[in-house]
Amino acid sequence: MRIPTVGVLALQGDVREHLAALTEAGARPVTVRRPEELDALDGLVIPGGESTTISKLAHAFGLLEPLRQRVREGLPAYGSCAGMIMLANKILDPRSGQETIGGIDMVVRRNAFGRQNESFEAELAVTGVEGGPVEGVFIRAPWVESTAAEVLAEVDGHPVAVRQGRLLATSFHPELTGDHRVHALFVDMVREAVEERSEVGD
Ligand code: GLN
Repeated sequence: MRIPTVGVLALQGDVREHLAALTEAGARPVTVRRPEELDALDGLVIPGGESTTISKLAHAFGLLEPLRQRVREGLPAYGSCAGMIMLANKILDPRSGQETIGGIDMVVRRNAFGRQNESFEAELAVTGVEGGPVEGVFIRAPWVESTAAEVLAEVDGHPVAVRQGRLLATSFHPELTGDHRVHALFVDMVREAVEERSEVGD
């Protein structure tokens, strides 16, 4: 099977780390800044960073609607931290003018665990990730306030990893740890979607 092409939305945030993690997880990563670059993708990663900035830049670059459309059409997508916020259908406490791509039926609370100096790491059991706990790095991280998606991991009863169909989101940053199992889970989701597409002769 061909190696899947996975875009990383490269407007702001820890793009380079996701590119490296995706390569390790067996994908061919490419950066995405323009709407036409969405066409060639089998999957998309939305990095951690600042969701208000990513939202504003996506709007300014004419990417917001094309992104929404591709996700609606079934493009697999994974968001870490700010990327999780971008995939939420609703933000509990948005900054003014802050918009999301949406796709995951969840409400997220921004900076739910506190400010920068309250960043922390936690060992997490993540459903679908084998081989022991995942080191979760939380930096001004959101949590999921309520969701209809499958919850894959929690911290103190708050969902911090969710999956709904072909969409995956984590409050934490696996791209910063050198452990590529969460990216491998996503690349598997991308491969499944590619296989399904080829079966229906698309
Ligand atoms: N607090 C940031 C936001 O609201 C997310 C932080 C991060 O991605 N590390 O977008």
